[in-house]
Amino acid sequence: MKALRGEEADGPAARPEVFSVAPYVGGESALPGFARPIKLSSNEGAFGPPPGAVQAAAQAAAAMHRYPDGGARRLRDAIGASFGLDPARIVCGNGSDEILSLLIQSYGGPGTELIMSEHGFSIYEIAGRLAGCAVRKAPETNLTTDVDAMLALVTPRTRMVFIANPNNPTGTLLPQSEVERLRAALPAGVLLVLDAAYAEYVGRADYDPGARLVEAGGNTVMTRTFSKIFGLGGARLGWGYAPAAIADVLNRVRPPFNVSHLAAAAGIAALAEPGWLEKSRAHNHAERARLAARLTQSGLRVIPSEANFLLADFTTPARAGAADAFLRQRGIIVRQVRSYGLPHCLRITIGTTEECNLVATALAEFCHG
Ligand SMILES: *Cc1c(COP(=O)(O)O)cnc(C)c1O
Repeated sequence: MKALRGEEADGPAARPEVFSVAPYVGGESALPGFARPIKLSSNEGAFGPPPGAVQAAAQAAAAMHRYPDGGARRLRDAIGASFGLDPARIVCGNGSDEILSLLIQSYGGPGTELIMSEHGFSIYEIAGRLAGCAVRKAPETNLTTDVDAMLALVTPRTRMVFIANPNNPTGTLLPQSEVERLRAALPAGVLLVLDAAYAEYVGRADYDPGARLVEAGGNTVMTRTFSKIFGLGGARLGWGYAPAAIADVLNRVRPPFNVSHLAAAAGIAALAEPGWLEKSRAHNHAERARLAARLTQSGLRVIPSEANFLLADFTTPARAGAADAFLRQRGIIVRQVRSYGLPHCLRITIGTTEECNLVATALAEFCHG
């Protein structure tokens, strides 16, 4: 980073915040020597895209010369109908990452503080630093968000608190009662963002992804994505559900055509795909339990997950690195989570039954052989 700044010394100078973040490195998708590696590195759904979404995007492509509806009206109506929410308070984005960034640009900034948990989702820190916020990280308890630790970090400069629930990369869930206790204890002027990217995978009966708190007051936002269970990560489509005043802010700040009409068409069709959610949820529930059991049998500690991935603890960074290399030799890509402060762990996405079997067998071999 430093060298780059030096080289550019005579040229235009970017804002200094820009150099406080490293370029994002996503889950890898290619492995030399393997034409079709098994990609369990980005928590994409196990079944690919919904067939109806592929068809809808292809049809929409015929009108590619037209600008999309900037207000994404049909998509917001479809989301509202599917989830029982008011379309007027839904704001769509180029992935939910965009909604998260827009919130930070709007409510953060120099002199403000943003709170997230120790192993929380990286985008909060990246977007926070870019906006000039001071990012404060609260220690976790058993790799789970600790509400008291978060509250202890609140100062008069605190503007935003971010929780991914379930969290990525740990997979852990903060119980609803704790989310509500946090909201109640935070000052009214602090925005609570509940990132529910994995909401559809949660099995717990008392779970609410955030809509209830959004509707209960003026200071909570829920974000959702089409990138995980709906299998549209490459289309870039996410949304936020916000109190009317915050939705108004987002609609001023967002780029006018931030959702392409191909993505919107795919999203509408994905919501309508018959049986998709049920099938995906049931598969994930069964395979997550089976993979967790097999990894545990191999002697690994597996963190209890409510999402479509498992975090496996290899006790040391060296052993996690060796396991990663061992899997790569067999054409399997999982996610190193060093940048999340978990260098002794690997994050493994729940893929198809065959993919889960392959990764479980390979790791059994690694652990015992
Ligand atoms: C994957 C993920 C997102 C979303 O991503 P988009 O593809 O930008 O919608 C948001 N939050 C968490 C915690 C995630 O894991």
